[in-house]
Amino acid sequence: MHRLLFVFLDGVGLGPSGPQNPLSTSAGPAFRELGGGAPWTRALPERQSPHHLVRPLDATLGVEGLPQSGTGQATLFTGVNCAERVGRHFGPFPHSATHEVLDQENLFHHVQELAPAPAPTAFANAFPPQFFEASSRRWTVTTRCCAGADVSLRTLDTLQAHRAVAADLTADGWREALGLNVPPRSPADAAEHLVATHRNHALTLFEHFQTDKVGHGRIDLAPEVLLARLDRFLKRLLDLLDPAQDTLLVTSDHGNIEDARHTQHTRNPVPLLVHGWAAPYFADAQDLTDVTPGIVAALRAANRR
Ligand SMILES: [Zn+2]
Repeated sequence: MHRLLFVFLDGVGLGPSGPQNPLSTSAGPAFRELGGGAPWTRALPERQSPHHLVRPLDATLGVEGLPQSGTGQATLFTGVNCAERVGRHFGPFPHSATHEVLDQENLFHHVQELAPAPAPTAFANAFPPQFFEASSRRWTVTTRCCAGADVSLRTLDTLQAHRAVAADLTADGWREALGLNVPPRSPADAAEHLVATHRNHALTLFEHFQTDKVGHGRIDLAPEVLLARLDRFLKRLLDLLDPAQDTLLVTSDHGNIEDARHTQHTRNPVPLLVHGWAAPYFADAQDLTDVTPGIVAALRAANRR
C-alpha cells in the first residue's frame, strides 16, 4: 500500500540566510536531509528525483498584504485559492466565504473518493477535553476539514494510548497549560506514534503550529530549541519511513519564524519538501493551490497499481 504523511508546519518560510534567520543558523541534520543537503532558506536549491523533491511555493496567492493562516491553510487543504475567494488574506480562523469549500471539498474528501479502504484518511493531532467541552469552540481550518469529511478528532485517551500526537510533540502544553496527566514523550516518540497511525491510512495529516507561535513571540521558547526538537522528530520519521511505500510531505502556509527581527508573518515563499514515491507528482507545483491536487493525483495513481 502506498501512503502519504503530510506534516504541516505553520509559519515556516524561505527567507534570506543570516543571523536573523534561525532556519539558516540552526539547520539540523533532518532539515538538511529534507532540503537536499541545504538549510531551508531562499537559497534552497530546487531538487527533483524519483524519491525526493524540493521546491519553493508562492504563499502570497496573488493577493497583496501579509498571508494569513485562515486563507493559506484553506488553500493548502482544498487546492482552491481561498485568499482570492475572500478578496484578501484572512486569519487565523477560516473566513465564512471558505466554509463551503472546507466543509464539502477538502483534501480528505478527495482522498476518501479514491480509496476503498474503510478509513483512508486520518488527522493525527490529539485535542484535549477542554476543546470538546468549549461551547465557544472556534473551528480551525483543519478541524473544520475533519468535521466536513467525518474524520474523527483524536482525544486524550488516544494520546495516552500512543495513537495520536500532541501538536507540540512533547505534550508539555497538555501538562503545563492544561494540567493534564500525560506522560512526557520525546520528539522521537511522537514520530513513532505518528508513523503507527500513518501505517493504517492512505493519507495522514499532522499539524504543528508552535513554529508560528514562536515566530509571533507568543510562547516562551527559543527558535533554536524548537527547531532542534522538530529536527529530532523529522529525523525519526525519515528513519522509520520506507520511500518506496511512504511519502513524507512537509510544507507551510506562510512565512514567520524565518525572520526573527519582527513577530509578523512574511511574504516569503514556503518550502515544499517531498520525500518518497510521490515526489514526481509535485514537479510542477508553484504555489499553495498545487499541494492538494498533487496528493490526490499521487494517491489516485497508487490505487491503480
Ligand atoms: Zn500566525
